[in-house]
Amino acid sequence: MSDNAIEIKGLKKVYKGRGGAPDKLALKGIDLNIPRGSMFGLLGPNGAGKSTTINILAGLVNKTEGSANIWGFDIDENPRNARANIGIVPQELMFDAFFTPREMLEVQAGMYGVPKEERRTEELLKAVHLLPQADAYSRTLSGGMKRRLLVAKAMVHNPPILVLDEPTAGVDIELRQQLWNYVRELHARGTTIVLTTHYLEEAEELCDTIAIINHGELVACEPTKQLLKRVDEKQVVIELGESLSAIPDSLSAFNSQLLDQNRIAVKISQATANVGQVLVAVQEAGLSVRDISTRETDLEDIFLQLTSSKANKGSEAA
Ligand code: ADP
Ligand code: MG
Repeated sequence: MSDNAIEIKGLKKVYKGRGGAPDKLALKGIDLNIPRGSMFGLLGPNGAGKSTTINILAGLVNKTEGSANIWGFDIDENPRNARANIGIVPQELMFDAFFTPREMLEVQAGMYGVPKEERRTEELLKAVHLLPQADAYSRTLSGGMKRRLLVAKAMVHNPPILVLDEPTAGVDIELRQQLWNYVRELHARGTTIVLTTHYLEEAEELCDTIAIINHGELVACEPTKQLLKRVDEKQVVIELGESLSAIPDSLSAFNSQLLDQNRIAVKISQATANVGQVLVAVQEAGLSVRDISTRETDLEDIFLQLTSSKANKGSEAA
């Protein structure tokens, strides 16, 4: 059996334009493996295709091309088993306002064929801090409470994978912590967690692996630590007294780039080099420094770098 909880290959989605609107290519052929037992972050700006990916897995959106399997079950060939192994908390809060939380969990458990004696309604309500509201109409719940109820709902059949699509939208900070505590607890007990977010800190804090998608394409997928290593870079921009047409030899050891004829940008990994060494190399080339500025990169920069223009893609290998 595969080590992956979810495997996605060549996944494509075209939303047909209605009423004269053009078609929308939302996923351009995504390949993505999500390891079993991971706490996986799917990051990307609004409109990147995160929900489309999740909703295809949930069976809420039909894919145009490609394949996906969940816990070893192909979503086309074995949709029931695929769905039995995943719990999904959708981005949109969809509710039947006249059910109470307790009723909602019971109905959901019934839909998944969980026998009465195996239901964990009390435990789930307690875990998401909704016991006091167990018998109130769902429409009276706050946004944060609704979100937590949806988490409980996604877990009624005890799936090995829990997917949360933008779980912290509309959830205040204290409740967010409670939600994360519960998610961490599930993860510690072996549940594979996938969450989508456009908040970098959230993914950085929680996830062991991060994938970044942009305009329907995967632009990065690596362990969070490795992604953060790129943060260890500092960019130095040197304005020169002279004009250049190429990077001087003395700077060839550095990751440098000619911004225009008077300015050189040098990326240095703080672990291996410092600004002084760059300045020495500039002097060796017989150049004079008019001005110098430095800036630390952070995860935000990496994110922007990966999600801005395609032109950055080629230079990003270093
Ligand atoms: P994300 O969740 O990353 O914000 P989505 O998957 O919701 O992104 O959307 C990806 C792209 O597909 C966006 O351009 C969005 O406008 C478009 N889209 C999403 N759902 C539909 C739909 N039902 N019909 C047409 N276009 C859609
Ligand atoms: Mg979304």
